[in-house]
Amino acid sequence: THVVTGLCDGCKYTDCVTVCPCECFHEGERMLFIDPELCIDCGACIPECPVDAIYLDEDVPPEWESYVKLNAEMVEQT
Ligand code: SF4
Repeated sequence: THVVTGLCDGCKYTDCVTVCPCECFHEGERMLFIDPELCIDCGACIPECPVDAIYLDEDVPPEWESYVKLNAEMVEQT
């Protein structure tokens, strides 16, 4: 799955939402999250993000590792 990292925090451009073919994105209070159950790993959202906040889960930098779990948890709540 793809993951939105904390770089999105306070940002919430929604260019990624527009290009996603699967409606994976959920909008939290401060940032967006991707539903890991719906993401087909097409990668279309990555170049759309103006702050480069989105990564494939296995490519998430160590400092954002906790966001892999956070995306899955937050889509349950939003
Ligand atoms: Fe949607 Fe594709 Fe991004 Fe997954 S990788 S969230 S399917 S645009």
